Amino acid sequence: MNTKAGYIAIVGKPNAGKSTLMNKIVGAKLSIVTPKPQTTRKKVLGIYTGESTQMVFLDTPGILKPRYEMQKSMMDYVDSAMDEADIIAVIVDVEKYAKGKYFPLGFKSALKNLNKPKIAIINKIDTAADRKEILPVMGDLLTEEIFDEIVPISALNETNIAELISVLEERLPEGPFFYEADLISSQPERFFVAELIRERVFTLFEDEVPYSTEVNIIEFKERENGKWYISADIIVERDTQKRIIIGSKGEKIKEIGQSARLEIEEHVGLEIFLNLFVKVRKDWRDNKGMLKSFGY
Ligand code: GDP
Ligand code: MG
Repeated sequence: MNTKAGYIAIVGKPNAGKSTLMNKIVGAKLSIVTPKPQTTRKKVLGIYTGESTQMVFLDTPGILKPRYEMQKSMMDYVDSAMDEADIIAVIVDVEKYAKGKYFPLGFKSALKNLNKPKIAIINKIDTAADRKEILPVMGDLLTEEIFDEIVPISALNETNIAELISVLEERLPEGPFFYEADLISSQPERFFVAELIRERVFTLFEDEVPYSTEVNIIEFKERENGKWYISADIIVERDTQKRIIIGSKGEKIKEIGQSARLEIEEHVGLEIFLNLFVKVRKDWRDNKGMLKSFGY
């Protein structure tokens, strides 16, 4: 049997549902999802292997106009994902779509210049009262003459996901698999652990705190017998943010630790011991050297 395999970049505006879609297709929580935009900061690889096809998904940060050094490097990730990909999947939030002004400036022309299949995915159709709300969006996207196919879905409710998978499979190049069939990601375990801790911060805090936070895994000891030992630094930009994260009498950091531990234990399928520290690295989001050390 001839196999097909390729890379698919999932791109779109913040909060359109990119991470939700990738997690549903891969069938595991690889990319953190929160109601807040800009949760995904780096490319995340998710692998879907079918009968004779393998799709490697690149979940990317939401496209936006960069305001920080960190956001610039986030947008560089999007560009490189679109370059690497065999297929570009552009995800559109049906609720937020507005004719002619939905995509950031320059995005459509950048897409047009890439000579590869482009699929538009209209997401969150569960929020549309009826089909009549979806049809004009489809019509608009068609008239752009950018997309080879347009597929309406609900990532959350898993509506039309099988349809989307077959549309993507059709456009995959022929070739051997890149990864073992049972692998769902090529990211190391410690990456997911850091992301799960970061997700707790996104969920538990408001305003600028989540956006100023990075998580660094310091120790990751996988033990044959007994609990794994993981220690991590939660990095913030200011002392005030450090106090917020710790909370009065340390109650907040305790809450982060307990809920993150449960999430991590579910992810790795083992009991762990989690030790968290909060550190201030002044204005790290605008510091090229620090961004580099954090893997951006
Ligand atoms: P991303 O920023 O594009 O990666 O978006 P996320 O996957 O993090 O999702 C952003 C928010 O939209 C989350 O609260 C999701 O639960 C929600 N969401 C994603 N897909 C759907 C969908 O199909 N329907 C609805 N109603 N909500 C969705
Ligand atoms: Mg995301």
